[in-house]
Amino acid sequence: MIELIRAAALAGRPCPSNADLAADLGCERNVAQILVRHARALGLIALRSDGPRRVIAAPDDSWVTAAAEHPKTRRGAAGRMRACLRCRASFHSEGPHHRLCDPCRRRAEDDGEFRVIGARVRA
Ligand SMILES: [Zn+2]
Repeated sequence: MIELIRAAALAGRPCPSNADLAADLGCERNVAQILVRHARALGLIALRSDGPRRVIAAPDDSWVTAAAEHPKTRRGAAGRMRACLRCRASFHSEGPHHRLCDPCRRRAEDDGEFRVIGARVRA
């Protein structure tokens, strides 16, 4: 079982899931899960990050499975298409903070400056 994880790590692949391990070992998924838990308890492997895309390393760091995130997912998280909150046009958003398309953002910034100046004038 550890050999399967180690082989994945050396091949630069992510850690096999319990279902993958079970298929390769010809056992039930919950048996694979128990084997992984025992290997951890015995210090044969180290769990770096848990979840559906876990990362498992050798206790001496001689190998580690590939990072959890798929490169495609990482690009998706960094930026994706969103509908502008103001004009509903589709644009490439850089993240959750970026909700207006460029023309609307420029307009919003202009409005903001105008409001600040307006407040100063009143004060
Ligand atoms: Zn817009």
